[in-house]
Amino acid sequence: MFRGLLDVRDQCEVCGLDLRAHDAGDGAAVGVILLLGAIVVVLAFWVEFHFAPPFWVHAVLWPVVTLPSAVLLMRPAKAALVALQFRHRATEMGL
Ligand SMILES: [Zn+2]
Repeated sequence: MFRGLLDVRDQCEVCGLDLRAHDAGDGAAVGVILLLGAIVVVLAFWVEFHFAPPFWVHAVLWPVVTLPSAVLLMRPAKAALVALQFRHRATEMGL
């Protein structure tokens, strides 16, 4: 259902469902920010208190963990929001 990284296609390539009316907006990003942010903060505290690494380890480690995780989580999160809209507000998607 995606064209490129996060652009939703105009139409489902399998069943032809019109996806132009979807309105996921920034919802997926907010969910990923809140979820991933909470997880990374807990992990950062855990690493700090268990290993007490020098500061530069945190500065290198967390961007390397966080950025790919955010990219990986965004597609399923956005797809889930589009699916939820289709399920619960189908009339706004023209059905
Ligand atoms: Zn489809």
